[in-house]
Amino acid sequence: MAVLITDTCINCGACIDECPVEAIVDEDDNPTGEEVYYVHADKCVECVGHHDEPACATACPTEGCIVWDAIGDSPEHRDDITDEQRSSHEPVVE
Ligand code: SF4
Ligand code: SF4
Repeated sequence: MAVLITDTCINCGACIDECPVEAIVDEDDNPTGEEVYYVHADKCVECVGHHDEPACATACPTEGCIVWDAIGDSPEHRDDITDEQRSSHEPVVE
């Protein structure tokens, strides 16, 4: 993964159109079956080359809903995010 949408998501839709690479899908297309929005890790670039921070997290109204996760298949990632921030699922926006 790259960034992860947690189960505190309220399905408001504010994030989906902000993603420059169309990595986000809504609850109907969430492959895990959870009723929340979902980030496809193999598409997410953590907004590298597009924004100073992940645009989905900036747009999200739910505090701490979008967190850092392991890089996995993410094609690009932010170098200044530590393994600890990722493993502890630290919120992207505090
Ligand atoms: S961090 Fe950027 S590229 Fe990744 S899902 Fe959020 S908006 Fe899309
Ligand atoms: S902006 Fe936040 S609360 Fe709204 S759908 Fe996206 S992740 Fe869920």
